[in-house]
Amino acid sequence: MDNKQKFNAIFAIFAVISILVIHELWVEQQSIAPVPYSELENLLQQNKIAELTIREKFIVGELKEPENGKKTIIANRVEPELAEHLSQYKVPYTQVYESKFLATLLSWIVPALIFFGIWMLILRKFAEKQGMGGSFMNIGKSKAKVYVEQQTGVTFDDVAGVDESKAELQEIVDFLKNPDEYGKLGARMPKGVLLVGPPGTGKTLLARAVAGQAGVPFFSISGSEFVEMFVGVGAARVRDLFEQARKSAPAIIFIDELDALGRVRTAAGLGGNDEREQTLNQLLVELDGFDPSSGLVLLAATNRPEVLDPALLRAGRFDRQVLVDRPDKLGRIAILKVHMKKIRVGEDVDPGQVADLTTGFSGADLANLVNEAALLATRRQAEEVSMHDFTQAIERIIAGLEKKNRLLNPREREIVAYHEVGHALTALALPGTDPVFKISIIPRGIGSLGYTLQRPTEDRFLMTREELEHKIAVLLGGRAAEKLIFNHLSTGASDDIARATDIARNMVTRYGMDPDIGFVVYEENQPSLLGQHGYGVNGCQISDSTAQRIDASVRKIIDDTFAHTYDILEKNRDILERCAKTLLEKETLLEQELIELTSDLRR
Ligand code: ADP
Ligand code: MG
Ligand code: ZN
Repeated sequence: MDNKQKFNAIFAIFAVISILVIHELWVEQQSIAPVPYSELENLLQQNKIAELTIREKFIVGELKEPENGKKTIIANRVEPELAEHLSQYKVPYTQVYESKFLATLLSWIVPALIFFGIWMLILRKFAEKQGMGGSFMNIGKSKAKVYVEQQTGVTFDDVAGVDESKAELQEIVDFLKNPDEYGKLGARMPKGVLLVGPPGTGKTLLARAVAGQAGVPFFSISGSEFVEMFVGVGAARVRDLFEQARKSAPAIIFIDELDALGRVRTAAGLGGNDEREQTLNQLLVELDGFDPSSGLVLLAATNRPEVLDPALLRAGRFDRQVLVDRPDKLGRIAILKVHMKKIRVGEDVDPGQVADLTTGFSGADLANLVNEAALLATRRQAEEVSMHDFTQAIERIIAGLEKKNRLLNPREREIVAYHEVGHALTALALPGTDPVFKISIIPRGIGSLGYTLQRPTEDRFLMTREELEHKIAVLLGGRAAEKLIFNHLSTGASDDIARATDIARNMVTRYGMDPDIGFVVYEENQPSLLGQHGYGVNGCQISDSTAQRIDASVRKIIDDTFAHTYDILEKNRDILERCAKTLLEKETLLEQELIELTSDLRR
């Protein structure tokens, strides 16, 4: 660290000076002979002294000729009357003065030293609290919590399932390894790269991996840390971050959770955001004065790009965005493999099968899953983690922790059983729906009384109108079954209905699937990364009559689908009852059992 070096240099100069001074004193000491006063008188009488200097307490005499290598003698002064009196006895005599020097020294220096020590101690404590490693020279400079990792120890091998993002970042790795090469061709590196993606997809991990892969220091700071009480501190931190990183280029500067810092600036005077604004301004200043050819690369991450201040996203600032999305099936397999390396897995564990059951999981969810499975295996004192541990962990994560002790009353159990079987039978009866993997009436977590797990056969990016309708039908199957058997409506279906309505509304307003409404998009698409938030492409101009037609269309889709679902279940009422009874008995039904129970299903 620089300050340490400075400190060392000062210390060295001090040492040299002290040595010189001591040496000088020593040499002088060597040529001076302390003598008794009587000896001085003798020498005077013998006429051996060339010159005398009389000081307040002693007399210094220069000898005409050196004696035993000493050229100077020094003798304490003796009071004149006393000297006169004593000289007649011919004995050596001298007067001794009590030196108060040491006492004076101690009485001043010691307390000062003690205070200094205490001061240092306090400073060091303070510095440690600031996470600066305790060198007191740093204090007061800035309280920036800048984390530097000389080696992150993470490489691209540790990040799986996001190959496209990795490919985009590879270029930056190459640049950091070899800045001169890039400079020669005149290629300009992007100033800032923004990693965008849902939480837990590995953005932070990727940033560290870029540093690790390139073997450069990693300077990181989190946007949420900028939320400070005192105006100006955040700006100082930003300045410091860039300053420190510049000194150790090539390096990576990483600002995590940029959205906490770089939100759209609101009108001034609304209070409370002065600090953030100053910090953001400082960041913009640094970005503008930032020269990528210096070997610095600025990375940032956010899961909410739509709230970012447009000034941040302007060309020349964070002008490149890398999407880090949730992994698809192959990606999940790759991520699972990375994390399974850290635990002892049994031979029956197939990452492909686990990936099948974890559609929509992020990298962090999968890491958590592997850990949960390992914990479960540990709890049952197994030698290795089995597939059973994994399925259990998946259920746990999907539906919250199992609450076996929260028992439903018999009537509720019955309703839940018919409800879940309703979902399952609808799924089995309709083509192109995901197979049902498991249904259960064991209550889990909050708000979920039972559940039906479907296993998507593959990740779907494209769905037809029919498939969407079937999806809605499966969601409505629970309520349809309840209506059929008990002829009632219950609250148990509220979540299903909300999801079904969502799909139906999207069909009408976004996918243009309704003949009445036509191929017109009425819904603002997901706010685009670069777009101005709040001004949808077509979003704001819906007339009242169109809105009514949209509502009517959505309603019609739901109603028609519900009628269809009700039909299916009515046709298969005997099977519905058979399955529900078995489910009540066993509490869970797996795919195979369900297929056997429904072999005579009428479609
Ligand atoms: P984000 O910053 O996107 O919210 P993180 O990078 O903090 O997500 O991810 C949290 C953890 O999840 C990581 O430390 C890692 O263990 C795991 N993880 C997330 N994504 C991946 C991935 N693509 N490959 C391997 N592990 C991942
Ligand atoms: Mg993160
Ligand atoms: Zn349901």
